[in-house]
Amino acid sequence: MHAISNTKSIKYMDIHQKLCEWYRLNQRDLPWRKTSDPYKIWLSEIILQQTRVQQGLPYYIDFITHYPKVEDLAAAPEDEVLRHWQGLGYYSRARNLHRTAKIVVQDHGGKFPDTYQGLLSLKGIGPYTAAAIASFAYGLPHAVVDGNVYRVLSRLYNIDTNILDNKARGIFQSLAEASMHPEEAATFNQAIMEFGALQCLAQQPLCKDCPLQDHCLAHAAHCVHERPVRIKKSERKHRYLHYLFFYNREHTWIQQRQGKDIWHHLWEFPLWEEDSLYEWNELIDRHPEISAYYRQDSVFYPSFDCSHQLTHQQLHARFFPIKIEDDSEALSEHFTKITLAELDTYAFSRLSLKFLEKFNF
Ligand code: SF4
Repeated sequence: MHAISNTKSIKYMDIHQKLCEWYRLNQRDLPWRKTSDPYKIWLSEIILQQTRVQQGLPYYIDFITHYPKVEDLAAAPEDEVLRHWQGLGYYSRARNLHRTAKIVVQDHGGKFPDTYQGLLSLKGIGPYTAAAIASFAYGLPHAVVDGNVYRVLSRLYNIDTNILDNKARGIFQSLAEASMHPEEAATFNQAIMEFGALQCLAQQPLCKDCPLQDHCLAHAAHCVHERPVRIKKSERKHRYLHYLFFYNREHTWIQQRQGKDIWHHLWEFPLWEEDSLYEWNELIDRHPEISAYYRQDSVFYPSFDCSHQLTHQQLHARFFPIKIEDDSEALSEHFTKITLAELDTYAFSRLSLKFLEKFNF
């Protein structure tokens, strides 16, 4: 199920309200939440990247103490900044931090730009940090999308988009922005991230006491632990399917899928699965039994290629339409014979329907 369509049935504003209520009661007391200074917010965001809050907190306090203003950080020698960073790892983050501070001082008179695009144009600031500063410092309605936000939204709206796909950020960003009340962007952003960190946990989400349980589509569909979907391209299995669409004036032959594979119990045309996509002659060489199903005077139409993506599988299909003049006992022995008019009454996979649409049935 691709659940974006379900979002229509969810009351966005209820979600905003409940998340913010939950946040007021449960938020942790953290110093960067008490400021609207873009410098301090930026500093906290860079320190907290790939770092747990408890580990990052003393570093934040140390940086703010030694470099209370962006000018102080920009003027510090790089060695000294790296010493303060020691123990946090990923030293390129400290170097980028220092470089960005210099740019803010040299090119912007020590003031962080006050628009999302302006922030994004600064070297070292990506969409997440720009949205965080824009909303926390300036109250602009930009949604932050980090790992916690992916998890919470993919569960609330039961979204099966792979969060490692390039298109994922845009989808989740739009959804978060549709879910937030624009005037309370900062609170919403803090709330959803905190909710992901404390309530909607990756391994053991606290669904039993969750104030959003009634709104949570993944909870209703019993697939909380399958959200978010996170699959590296290399982990997606590729399959190569050869469908033979035999038909005559009135009939065609189909089969029902069995076993634990995809599309359990759906109908499909006779299928030969292989390790790659093959041309007709190659397929016959590999499966000589197919030649029992047609005669020399059968008409072979050009094959039709089609691919289809499932969560864990990339399907590559080749359909071969073959018009046979008479009935075929061999086909009827192995497959279910139906009239062409009955095609509509059987449940086919989306992939087979694509072919039927293309072939005009
Ligand atoms: S019901 Fe569970 S999965 Fe859904 S939002 Fe609440 S904690 Fe997360």
